Amino acid sequence: MRRPFIAGNWKMNLNRAEAVTLAEGVAKAVENVDYADVAVCVPFVYLDAVSQVLKDSKVAVGVQNCYFEKNGAYTGEISVEMLKDFGCTYVILGHSERRHILGECNAVINKKVKAVLAAGMIPILCVGEMLAEREAGETDDIIAEQFYGSLAGISPEDMKKIVIAYEPVWAIGTGKVATPAQAEETHANLRKLIAVKYGQNVADSVRIQYGGSMKPENAQELLNQPNIDGGLIGGAALKADSFMGIITGAKK
Ligand code: PEP
Repeated sequence: MRRPFIAGNWKMNLNRAEAVTLAEGVAKAVENVDYADVAVCVPFVYLDAVSQVLKDSKVAVGVQNCYFEKNGAYTGEISVEMLKDFGCTYVILGHSERRHILGECNAVINKKVKAVLAAGMIPILCVGEMLAEREAGETDDIIAEQFYGSLAGISPEDMKKIVIAYEPVWAIGTGKVATPAQAEETHANLRKLIAVKYGQNVADSVRIQYGGSMKPENAQELLNQPNIDGGLIGGAALKADSFMGIITGAKK
């Protein structure tokens, strides 16, 4: 039985005071939630402040990127050890905004996945097709390429720790949500890919989140699909009540 996992991706939003207030609001909202894991992935500069707010709460803290080298002359980058130092548990990797705006490729994402695991943190690996790719019937090929490329050389033990987020690019921040049937079909295919590479046992244990315009109004139906184990939430995670509305949708 996979435990639902709902994570907020705050992206490049909020100021310090707003980040602290939102973290306090989420911590309070989930006080009695015992049916799901919850995390917020914050901008690097608020990691310290938010970690302090959430240290005795049910909410884990994550970030949205990292660099794979341990230390050295990498101007502007942040290492996994630096993140660990500030109470970080999750690192979103391969988000479509990093793949498509910042030009990150599978080979770089793969190095980051390995660095995050080596530091004892958990990668949330994002995969997803663009609209033209879906319309050309290429969704499964794109997902397979991202899956194999980003996870090259990952052992079955490590695979069990990784969270995958299926995020159709055309649904992110657009208000266009994948239908539960569309999302479920891709999640089921992703689980088959995991089973082929790592065996059914591992595939059955990996949590696959859906991301793309998830809101309180559509969360429950998506989260009720057999292969959808949670959500990665952008816009709706910026308010404690809408984030909580989605978390409630994970209650079975
Ligand atoms: C995201 O960026 O991971 C995301 C799913 O965004 P939104 O919920 O705003 O579509």
